[in-house]
Amino acid sequence: MTQSSPDSSRRFRAPRNLEREESQLWRWILLFMVLLAAGFAALAWERLEALPYHLGPMAVGVLVLSVLLAVYAYGRRKEVGALKLLLQDLQEHVGAAPSEEQLDQLNEMIARSQRNFKELIDSIDDAACAVSLDGTLRTVNKRVSELVSLPYTAIVGQKFFEFVEEPTRASVEAGLVRFLEKRHWAGTVRVRFKNNARPLYFDCVLNAIVKSDEVVGVSVLGRDVTEQHEKELRFTELFETLQEGAYFSTPEGRLLDANPALVSILGYATKAEILALDPLQLNFDPAESPVLGRAADDRGGVRAREISLRKKDGSAAVFMESSRAVWDEAGKLIRYQGTLVDVTERRKLERQVAQQEEFRRRLLESFPDLILVVDMEERYTFASSRVEDVLGCTSEGLLGKKISETQGSSPELVALYRDVVAGKVFESAEYGARRGDGSGQTMRASASQFFDADNKLAGVIISVRDITREKKFEQQVVQSERLAAMGAMIGGVAHELNNPLTSILGVSDLLQDSQTTDSARKQVAILQQQARRAAEIVHNLTYFATPPTPGKTRVNLGDIVERTLNLHSYSLRKNNITVDFIREPGLPYVQGDPHQLMQIFLNLILNAEQAIREAREKGTLRIRLGTAGQSVWASFLDDGPGIPAAILASIFDPFYTTKRPGRGTGLGLSICKSVMKEHNGTVEAANVPGGGAVFTVTLPAAATS
Ligand code: ADP
Repeated sequence: MTQSSPDSSRRFRAPRNLEREESQLWRWILLFMVLLAAGFAALAWERLEALPYHLGPMAVGVLVLSVLLAVYAYGRRKEVGALKLLLQDLQEHVGAAPSEEQLDQLNEMIARSQRNFKELIDSIDDAACAVSLDGTLRTVNKRVSELVSLPYTAIVGQKFFEFVEEPTRASVEAGLVRFLEKRHWAGTVRVRFKNNARPLYFDCVLNAIVKSDEVVGVSVLGRDVTEQHEKELRFTELFETLQEGAYFSTPEGRLLDANPALVSILGYATKAEILALDPLQLNFDPAESPVLGRAADDRGGVRAREISLRKKDGSAAVFMESSRAVWDEAGKLIRYQGTLVDVTERRKLERQVAQQEEFRRRLLESFPDLILVVDMEERYTFASSRVEDVLGCTSEGLLGKKISETQGSSPELVALYRDVVAGKVFESAEYGARRGDGSGQTMRASASQFFDADNKLAGVIISVRDITREKKFEQQVVQSERLAAMGAMIGGVAHELNNPLTSILGVSDLLQDSQTTDSARKQVAILQQQARRAAEIVHNLTYFATPPTPGKTRVNLGDIVERTLNLHSYSLRKNNITVDFIREPGLPYVQGDPHQLMQIFLNLILNAEQAIREAREKGTLRIRLGTAGQSVWASFLDDGPGIPAAILASIFDPFYTTKRPGRGTGLGLSICKSVMKEHNGTVEAANVPGGGAVFTVTLPAAATS
């Protein structure tokens, strides 16, 4: 292959090569001569004869070889010398027509050197050829033969475009003008041979073949880079079409390249726009170090993490990034590359789902009912956080267990579940259940079906409410209505009794005066006494039964306690309860509603009576009234069992009772408390060291008027 060489000094290259070859040959000859001489000097002929049998032929062999080599070297030297002379002749007679003999010699030399040249270019792996300007292939190497699947002889002399479809003649001719100017071109060419549909890619170097400073042809050397090119193409295609963002950046986080997906996710119109950004402009949080950057000492391989980048409009784009750093051979961090999966929407959705979940959780928590879900295998799959309040057990104690075998269950609840599974759309039931602490409760459950995503019945949702208090309240309402009716009736009866009693008292007074004997007077006195007692009871009954008039008056607490005791004296007597009632003389008045105060005292007396009767057959109720500073107090001390310390804090709670159903409503003490509060007073309970309980009511003394 001839290089383009307009420079005339290059014409001397051939003789110089020949000279080098010649001197090299001579060096070989000299070396062998010296070796030969040394051999002969070392082994004299006589001694050679004296050598053992097997070494003799060897020495002769060395001698023959040396002679042959000398002959060959002489021949080559002659050849080279001749060529040298010829070329020198040619150089000396540039422009003059060569002689016939010179031309023969030259042809012979060229044929020989062409053979050598062919061997040389065949040994090259790359495709090499020489083409004249009219497109005739002057020479090709073995690789070209392989590519067009034809022998050398079938290619040389043929036109280039007989074998090649691409590049087209037109495109080659278009580039030729410029090539002729530059005489050199290098680049990647897509080539499609006629015998092969698959396009190949060659990294080509084209040099002009110059004769007499005129371009006569082109030498082409092409390296097949199809595989690499296809890889690059595939990579580029992937980079460009990837739905996920992909980028290359400097270690400092400045983008070197970004694929179209990343450009559009970040809201930019062109790649150039995004590549011009400062690393910190990509940060959603500019206070942080560049988010795409990576420390040089970070050799952690692939790094997966979640990052936020700033979009053009200033909003955040959240990505799942997997990236790696690239180092050069010297161990310097040169690049940082990664893919970015846009998870902004996913994160938004996750946040929404979490919010909905939180809303659902809070809704269920704030819901007064316990919500339970039972699957088709009759097992609990969900229990809201109210489970502990309502059933007195944890959700762990419920989940996965059968509805019939768990805390707070009842045959009614199981039947309700089965009814709903059997097709009843919405059902409810009331049932009695036992809490984890053993206390009884009344429950109301409502159940409805629930379906899975395929609209298949998946289980039952049950909402359970503890209606124990409601039930008690209902009872209380019934009882107070009964009491009100009774009060009205007692009022009527008392009123009716009052008239006959007044007559009896009047007549007995008259009788008293007219009696002459002592015994008759005594009997009339008894009649009068009992009639008065009856009148007093009736009077107290009227007082109790009269509907309370709102508003407070100045009252004597001692009188009210006494009146209450009188009303309740029969029961106390019947229950063997002795009342020990001491009131401090001259107690100040208090401002209060006598009916409400009477109700309070009656309740405290009733509680004491019941407590004593629970423990024993008889007992004593000590009632004391006194003053402390500006207050008047009344204490009710019984010798019953006292109040267990564990419940002392709860006894004033509404509906709190330890009494069996029908005997207590749990409202007495809570009413006491609210009435006392309304009177600016207090009511307190304590246990007495020797046993029994004491309730103390304190009220502010009324101003003396
Ligand atoms: P009820 O009497 O209907 O139970 P109360 O509110 O009057 O409702 O009383 C609440 C509870 O306080 C009673 O159930 C009882 O356990 C306790 N208690 C009240 N008075 C006494 C007392 N004198 N001795 C012991 N326990 C009492």
